[in-house]
Parts: sequence; C-alpha cells; structure tokens
Amino acid sequence: TKRNPNENEFHQAVREIIDSLVPVLAANPAYMDHGILERMVEPERTISFQVPWVDDQGNVMVNRGFRVQFNSAIGPYKGGLRFHPTVNASIIKFLGFEQIFKNALTSQPIGGGKGGSDFDPKGKSDAEIMRFCQSFMTELSRHIGPDTDVPAGDIGVGPREIGYMFGQYKKLRGRFEAGALTGKGLPYGGSIGRTEATGYGTVYFMQEMLKDNGLSFEGQTVVVSGSGNVSIYAMEKAAQLGAYVVACSDSNGYIYDPGGIDLQTVRDIKEERKESLAEYVNEHPDAEYGETVSGIWSIPCDIALPCATQNELDETSAKLLSANNVKAVGEGANMPCTLDAIHTFQDNHVLYGPAKAVNAGGVAVSALEMAQNSTRLSWTFEEVDEKLQDIMKTIYQNSVEAAERYGQSGNLAAGANIAGFLKVADAMIDQGVV
Ligand code: NDP
Repeated sequence: TKRNPNENEFHQAVREIIDSLVPVLAANPAYMDHGILERMVEPERTISFQVPWVDDQGNVMVNRGFRVQFNSAIGPYKGGLRFHPTVNASIIKFLGFEQIFKNALTSQPIGGGKGGSDFDPKGKSDAEIMRFCQSFMTELSRHIGPDTDVPAGDIGVGPREIGYMFGQYKKLRGRFEAGALTGKGLPYGGSIGRTEATGYGTVYFMQEMLKDNGLSFEGQTVVVSGSGNVSIYAMEKAAQLGAYVVACSDSNGYIYDPGGIDLQTVRDIKEERKESLAEYVNEHPDAEYGETVSGIWSIPCDIALPCATQNELDETSAKLLSANNVKAVGEGANMPCTLDAIHTFQDNHVLYGPAKAVNAGGVAVSALEMAQNSTRLSWTFEEVDEKLQDIMKTIYQNSVEAAERYGQSGNLAAGANIAGFLKVADAMIDQGVV
C-alpha cells in the first residue's frame, strides 16, 4: 500500500489472491525464492497517455488513456478496454491483475493486461465516439499487436468502438492484422459467439457448480444486475435453461418483474434507444422500478448473478441475499462482491463462483477469435459454443481440484486463484528472472 498509494481496488484484488495462496507458498518455497509474488504484483509495463479529441461543437477535449501490460509469462498480454468516467490507474491495475489468473484458467496461451480511458461515451454522438477511438488508438497502436498485446471490449467498449479502433490501427500499420484486437465485427475477423460468450459462459460455469450440488437452473428464480453485454446474455441463457429471471439493473436503478423479465424490451431500451431502465415499467405496468442500484439485492432469489461492475454487492446486500435463502452467487462482472460480502456468503454456505473463473468465457472466446484469425478460418456458432462449454467445465473442475489439493475443499475462490497462479508461476520460473 505504501508503494501504490490510493489504489484501493488494486489492493483489494491483490489481498484476495494472496490470502488464498498461503498454503501454496508454504508447500512450495521455490515460488518465494524466485520472487514470483513480488514480480506478479508489478506490471511488466504501464502506459499512460493523453487522448485529445474535438467534440461536435469544436471544443478540444482531453482524456487520459491507460494500458497496463501485467504479465506475459504464458502468452501475449490480453484483456479488455474500459471507457467509463470512473477509470483510473487503480481500476485498470486491479482488472489487469485479475486478468493474469483468469486467462491462465482458460487453458489458452494468453497473458494478462487491461486498458481504457476516463472518457464517458454516454450522450456522445457517433462522430465523437469515432474521433475519440481514433485518437486513443493513435497512441495505443505503438504498444499492441497480434503477438504482443491484444485488447478487446469491456464496459463502454462494444463492437462499434472496436470497429473504429481497428480501422485506425489498420490505417496506421498499413496492414490487415486481424489478431491485434478481438470482439471485432463478423465481416472483418470477429468470432461468431464472442458477443454472447461472457454471459453464456457465466451460466455454463454456474450450471456445473449447481449440478455438482444436486441443483440446476430449471425453475429457479434468478436476479442479474446490469443490463449490458454480460448481463443480457446471462439472462438469455438462464431463461433458456428454464430459470425465471425476475430482475436486472443499470447505473440508475433496477426493475423487478415477478412474471419474468421481457428481455426484448430491455434490449430495445438499453441497446437501441440507449435510455434508462425506468422506461420498462411504461411497457410492463406490473413491473416495479427501484431507484437505488443496490436495491436489486433485496429481491428474494435462488441464484444471484452480479454482472454490472466492481464492488456493487457489499456485506449488507450479501446478508440480505443470505437471509432470503439465496443458494448460489456467480460473479459475471469483475470483483462485484466486496471481500466482506464474499465472507458472508462463505459463512452462510452459499455456493460462490468467483469472477476469475465464472466470467472467463469472454476472454476464452477472444482467444478462439485469435486462433481463427491466425488460421484465416471461421468456425460455426455451434463449434464455438461447444468449445466454450468445454472450457467452462474444465475451469470448474480445475478450480475444484486445486482447492482440494491445498486443503480448501469447496472454496472455489481459492481454487481458481491457485490453479491460475500455479500455471503462471511455473512458466515464470522456467523463463528465468527477466
Ligand atoms: P457494458 O458496458 O455492456 O454494461 C455495463 C452495465 O452495467 C450497464 O447496464 C450499466 O448501466 C451497468 N452499470 C454500470 N455501473 C453500474 C453500477 N454502479 N451499478 C449498477 N449497474 C451499473 O459492460 P459489460 O457488460 O461488458 O461489463 C460488465 C462487467 O463484466 C464489468 O465488470 C466487466 O469488467 C465484466 N466483464 C466483461 C466482459 C466482456 O466480455 N464484456 C468479460 C469479463 C468480464 P448503464 O447502462 O446505466 O451504464
């Protein structure tokens, strides 16, 4: 904390990992001898840059851009770009640090990185978004490439933004290097199934966890926070598996529709019209709108999937969910539960799926997109979805086994941290101190 003052989210992510590594380090002193932990918590490279652009009124605007290239022990840096006004060094570092372990868990050859900007896409015209993306990529292009660092989307960065950034990257390079960015549109090298991958993967992981405990999604009441990319496809897949999805949220509030959320209305409001979820009750008068974001966790449910943002579910919300007999919680977003909330779930024997494992489906399919780009082939949706399901099952199994091996049976948070750590740490030792 002295070395990285005011980086609370980064400290939180590191603390969570280190706590679960205690038995691993005690059993394997070689990791300490090789300074693995000290090297893992220090990014290999941090790039911070100015992003100047001109708005539609001719005003010069200046944002801050980041790319943290955290660890390349098992492959090129890989991780999304977030455009949101709350982005700062701590947020990008926590996301990049988590990405190291998540990417290792996917069994794909990808290192960990993350980036973004404090640019707020809300209320911006399409032309402003394009100019911002071009300026951002003008600097970022010096640092990325198919074999060095491969960014993708995250909050505020979807296919439109990736398209504008890819266009600028191609122009600056003078080459069509499809593998330099993932989450691309299908006509220019995107993978079918990438849009759905994080949300579907979240549900596939939870399905494995529920099955192992004699449960399933069938007939269960599910609450999913957020209404963006991860949330929409988590809701869609949970509903396909027979669950009743009764609530979702955005950054202003939540909707509760006891008859089941009408996903098409949510998509029209959020994706097409880009409005507030408050609009939902105009079309569905039986639904309720709540004006607090955390209010969603007071709704009784069997399965809760926080899919919006970091620290959106605190100890108070975890206690409410537990008192309402929630059976399982799966983190579709990155670090959505505070450490106290996680402990509350563990103390109350609520099944808990950690973000690194649960939401790894998105980056796993991004790695499949890289594989398709390098072979110049395109797979079908069925092929990608089948690989995604296999990957999520393997992540679940590996996390269970790692937890068992180090005396933490049933603690998937510890298991995911340990399985990811071992792979990266062993690769670092093999490659020497460089
Ligand atoms: P989107 O930008 O598509 O959606 C974010 C959603 O969360 C929006 O509905 C937004 O509401 C809502 N939101 C933002 N802040 C809050 C808040 N404080 N409280 C409640 N809701 C909020 O992002 P993604 O769906 O891509 O990402 C969601 C999470 O999943 C992030 O943690 C991200 O890092 C993680 N993730 C994403 C992956 C991906 O493939 N996209 C992969 C792995 C993890 P509003 O519409 O009002 O802005």
